[in-house]
Amino acid sequence: PTMAHSKALLVLENFIGGKFVPCSSYVDSYNPSTGDVYCRVPDSGREEVEAAVKAAKAAFPIWSSKSPLERSQILNKLADLIEHDLEAFAQAESKDQGKTITFARTVDIPRAVHNFRFFASSILHHVTECTEMPAMGCVHYTSRAPVGVAGLISPWNLPLYLLTWKIAPAIACGNTVVAKPSEMTSVTAWMMCKLLEKAGVPPGVVNVVFGTGAKAGEALVCHPDVPLISFTGSTLTAQRITEKSAPHCKRLSLELGGKNPAIIFDDADLSQCIPTTVRSSFANQGEICLCTSRIFVQRGIYSEFLKRFVAEAKKWKTGNPSDPTSDVGALISKEHLEKVRNYVKKAQAEGARVLCGEGVDPLALPPGNQKGYFMLPTVIAEVKDESCCMQEEIFGPVTCVVAFDTEEEVIERANGVKYGLAATVWSSNVGRVHRVAHRLQSGLVWTNCWLVRDLNLPFGGMKASGIGREGAKDSYEFFTEVKTITIKH
Ligand code: NAD
Repeated sequence: PTMAHSKALLVLENFIGGKFVPCSSYVDSYNPSTGDVYCRVPDSGREEVEAAVKAAKAAFPIWSSKSPLERSQILNKLADLIEHDLEAFAQAESKDQGKTITFARTVDIPRAVHNFRFFASSILHHVTECTEMPAMGCVHYTSRAPVGVAGLISPWNLPLYLLTWKIAPAIACGNTVVAKPSEMTSVTAWMMCKLLEKAGVPPGVVNVVFGTGAKAGEALVCHPDVPLISFTGSTLTAQRITEKSAPHCKRLSLELGGKNPAIIFDDADLSQCIPTTVRSSFANQGEICLCTSRIFVQRGIYSEFLKRFVAEAKKWKTGNPSDPTSDVGALISKEHLEKVRNYVKKAQAEGARVLCGEGVDPLALPPGNQKGYFMLPTVIAEVKDESCCMQEEIFGPVTCVVAFDTEEEVIERANGVKYGLAATVWSSNVGRVHRVAHRLQSGLVWTNCWLVRDLNLPFGGMKASGIGREGAKDSYEFFTEVKTITIKH
């Protein structure tokens, strides 16, 4: 970039002990819809993480001794401040991530606000257990206390949404945190830091260290004074984190990838099922861990389904994320776009049929977006179950449709992957819906709907999709240490 160009770049700073601090080196962050570098993100390492952990440790005694009500009021204030700036946050998230402005306005930022409000409320309503042993003259009760400094590591697909889903419960419970957002999507976390003081969050309670996973993330995972790590990201990184944290016996919460099936029986209400399954396949460019990527359709309705599904998918408009009429924005990076495209090529090489999207339909982009990382919603049929397209997480706007005959068969095929995050079942037979839901190896099962969440209930995956759950009670348990106390009278 020229001097004039580099002057215009947005430069982020770490937020440590309540202050913004510059870093000695930076990494570039791209605008996915133009392909231009537009932001520089601190390339933090051990030194920066050390300073942040020190600040978090120093803030812990005061923060952890505040009452839940005091913490709750601060979380609510922070929610109000983010909501007040919702439009600015949404614009920033869309520019930084490539997602459509509509998605950022209606999903990402409202949910970030809600995360703080939700945990501000739920922290007031926990009760601990108590049992009596009259014959021994004893009562037992449990007490819960915050653990200490929590390390929070989040991915690029739902940046502020997923980061606040960790920060809110961690600090509501009285922990202090060091957070590391994805180096590709750091801007909204940095914007949130600017609001912390006004919300009344004391210095050192929330520290944000920006940088890459290999440097900043790993320094956090390896820090001896960070006893718990909450991580959302890929299964591969989770394996590395597990390995690196093992010598310290850290408490881990791991929210990982998925290869989520939708199972569509011949008695499904297709007028609901088709638009919802198009959405579950392509929302946020397919870059949601809960997105559908394997669609099993009962043979009797297979050809009708395919015809209507492809017609619906073609209605989704790929274009400039800042255009409110766009349904699909840009993918996160050039490398990721290449990776997703390669899956489509592999499917074709294996003899599968690409029914719409990549390589089949023309992609018309506005002049300013020619170098952006765009791809059309792509539907592939006749893919073999053992194909990488049916086994690996693609994490882009690509979905595979295959036929099945029986309930027994489809359960086995749906379970035949290493992941187990989310599944969707479509049928109007209530008995079948229950039977199938019980037998699917999946942390979440939606029947006749998708992405309807009650944050009170456990969220998380089985098998390679994760360890642990998040939710009102689950996050409370993860972010606190329990003690059983016995009193003899
Ligand atoms: P990723 O694993 O590459 O990165 C996630 C985070 O971990 C980033 O902040 C990254 O910098 C950091 N990181 C990378 N290497 C690290 C290391 N060695 N030590 C510590 N930190 C490290 O994942 P991604 O590509 O950013 O995100 C996409 C993945 O996230 C997909 O697999 C998706 O399914 C998953 N995901 C899961 C959920 C869920 O709730 N289960 C939600 C969203 C995304």
